[in-house]
Amino acid sequence: MSPFSTNSLLSNSSIAELLAVAAESAKMPLQKALRRASRKALMWPEEAAVLLQEDRSLTELPGVGPSLNKIIRRWIDDPPDIPSPPEIRALFLTVTEARAALAKQPSWSAEVKGDLQMHTQWSDGSGSVEEMAQAAAERGYEYIAITDHSKGLKIAGGIDEEQLQQQGEEIAAVNARLRSQGQSVRVLRSVELNLDPKGEGDMDGEFLKSLDLVLGCFHSALRRKEDQTGRYLAALRNPDVQILGHPRGRIYNFRLGLTAEWSRVFDLAAQLDKAVEIDAYPDRQDLSLDLLKLAKKSGCRISLGTDSHDPLQLRFLEYALAAAVLAEIKRERILNFMPRDELVKWAAKVRQQ
Ligand SMILES: [Zn+2]
Repeated sequence: MSPFSTNSLLSNSSIAELLAVAAESAKMPLQKALRRASRKALMWPEEAAVLLQEDRSLTELPGVGPSLNKIIRRWIDDPPDIPSPPEIRALFLTVTEARAALAKQPSWSAEVKGDLQMHTQWSDGSGSVEEMAQAAAERGYEYIAITDHSKGLKIAGGIDEEQLQQQGEEIAAVNARLRSQGQSVRVLRSVELNLDPKGEGDMDGEFLKSLDLVLGCFHSALRRKEDQTGRYLAALRNPDVQILGHPRGRIYNFRLGLTAEWSRVFDLAAQLDKAVEIDAYPDRQDLSLDLLKLAKKSGCRISLGTDSHDPLQLRFLEYALAAAVLAEIKRERILNFMPRDELVKWAAKVRQQ
């Protein structure tokens, strides 16, 4: 049973694991459907077992068709032993677990001021800057940071300095429009700077100073088995970067992510006053809960980002907020609770060190 579940019904978390295990011995195309449903189960808005109690069909849930409906129904009626998940699927919250954790800390959802990672049509997102800003306004945010990919990440449509400059003009126009509409949300200029395994970025350092803040992320050599502490320390020492995004590089049931002496990484982040991220994308949830507990001990700053590729995905913030609650991160250490001016001042100060 999941360490987060609170009652005896088969939880979505357990169903996710059963689906993933079943996929391992299934033939195509069922195998693909099982794997997909396992990932989708992290996002099911209600507990499947509760749906059955209410005489509803499990096909209401994303990823569940008639054949999976039958399989899952059997598990709920007569629960099999739940294996504890292997590391590649361990410590992922389902949204129902995230909401249960947040219910204990309701002021956090109400008072979080923004979201610090998202993509637009400028790289691999589907929404415009304006659409992301409107979605943020609906959520009552004070700010969002637009973090499209930088030029080195060609596969995700990474953009160069000139395009980022043009995006800056678009952001200024969107902010002017928001102001004239009486909306309080503002769009911050940022980028998801692609870091090489030496911790170096792919954009001009002088240019990056014109942005409000910079998120640095690794996207290559993410399957190395040996210790990667060195690259993390180098990335944190990179003067262009204030936030280290999706640090492990893990993806649910697909990639384990990197290993490091994490306490050393978080200690250095604390010493440099930089932040490490909780990427809230459901199949990333990176940093994970175990590492967040270490980050808490180091006392480094934490940044929350949904990594949204669509305006509707801003709702994923729940996963990051819940992970912070469960790891007992102090609210003062979380960037997203800072007022906008304070956040921008922090980034400028870190940059000047
Ligand atoms: Zn990324």
